[in-house]
Amino acid sequence: MIDFCSQETKPLLSVDEAIAKIQASITSVKEQEIVDLKNALGRVLAEDVYAKVPSPPYKNSAMDGYAFCSQDINSAQDFCLKIVGTSWAGRPYLGEMNSGECLRIFTGALVPKALDSVVMQEQVTVSDNHVQFSLTTQPYQNIRQQGEDVALGSLVLEANKVLSVMDLALLASVGVNKISVKRKVKVVIFSTGDELQSLDQPLACGQIYDSNRYALQGLLSNPLYAVIDLGVVADDPLLLEASLIKAAQNSDVIVTTGGASVGDADYIKEILAKCGQVNFWKIAIKPGKPLAFGKIGDCHFFGLPGNPVAVIVTFQYLVEPALKKLAGGEALKKLQIIATSLSTLKKSKGRQEYLRGILTQNSDGEFFVSSAGKQGSNILKSMSQANCYIVLPIECQGVNEGDKVRVDLILGACITD
Ligand code: AMP
Ligand code: MG
Repeated sequence: MIDFCSQETKPLLSVDEAIAKIQASITSVKEQEIVDLKNALGRVLAEDVYAKVPSPPYKNSAMDGYAFCSQDINSAQDFCLKIVGTSWAGRPYLGEMNSGECLRIFTGALVPKALDSVVMQEQVTVSDNHVQFSLTTQPYQNIRQQGEDVALGSLVLEANKVLSVMDLALLASVGVNKISVKRKVKVVIFSTGDELQSLDQPLACGQIYDSNRYALQGLLSNPLYAVIDLGVVADDPLLLEASLIKAAQNSDVIVTTGGASVGDADYIKEILAKCGQVNFWKIAIKPGKPLAFGKIGDCHFFGLPGNPVAVIVTFQYLVEPALKKLAGGEALKKLQIIATSLSTLKKSKGRQEYLRGILTQNSDGEFFVSSAGKQGSNILKSMSQANCYIVLPIECQGVNEGDKVRVDLILGACITD
């Protein structure tokens, strides 16, 4: 494939410079809404959250066994305590407790104030309503103290946290049901191209199916975003302009694919310049060089390239961080892995390349990566088989077998044996 970078009249923006420009132009959404906890997964907390009740809410047993008072322990010989009742989880024993008495108790059941210890049922013998304790019985065991996880009124989660499954469980445990979250980021997507056909129609000569919107819909299926899909817009400058102006009126971000390059049917950059501002166009990235970023009114605009792999790569490295910043979540760094290349990889200077790779790990935990196959920006099969990107910096001029390379995991990818 010919790389046209050498034909650029000025140096292209590096990926890091492009990310910095995008991030600098974005401020997070301010508006908030209240949601029920069950609808809060993946949303961004708008305010700090404090415990409405302590967790655990009361002193309780960590075991099925017998609750007693440590003052009744006789360390000189085995001792016997009388069972005066049962404390069940959800059905506490509310009677008096006196010296020489104990309670049958189950995991999670309230431990009365007067008692401070639980012995596991496997460690005692029971007969005739009495429990025989051994002289080695330890005090204060198997008790979960009130508030030992979270104290009443204490800070549970800080604003800007993106709520995880674990966070939902934590918030439920401290009685928080209504959550103030930042509003969703409104994203409009559409594909451009006269050759695009929808999946419910047969392909006529010269047509291809529109795969980009399926990729984008998947990449955007996140509780942080509210997505409107406008379908396909033809390579018609007037139609494209009208679609962009309309979409910009009620969204935070527009993401289009196709028509961002220099061909005679590529209108996106010109139209952006006409009805908004171009922040930059073209980046030193492969795949994905022709990428127009700017604004139409208050709406951010990403004109991604047409080739499907370029769409996926540029979305993940440039659009997604922008959307995350807009959504107002805390900035998190991606895990990076260094792996030994099992493939020889060709590369010329000039662009940062994202090659589709297959990452493996040996029994010592060492990482190895090989090319996932053909690397053209239209080749979706190797994209589908890859579990990582091999990231080769601008200056890199190729990789030999055995060289160390940077690898980024793809979207929840797993490693197969
Ligand atoms: P363009 O950037 O419009 O010149 O498109 C570059 C290449 O990507 C061309 O081969 C297009 O046919 C292809 N392409 C553009 N849009 C899509 C799409 N939505 N789905 C699949 N391929 C596309
Ligand atoms: Mg096109």
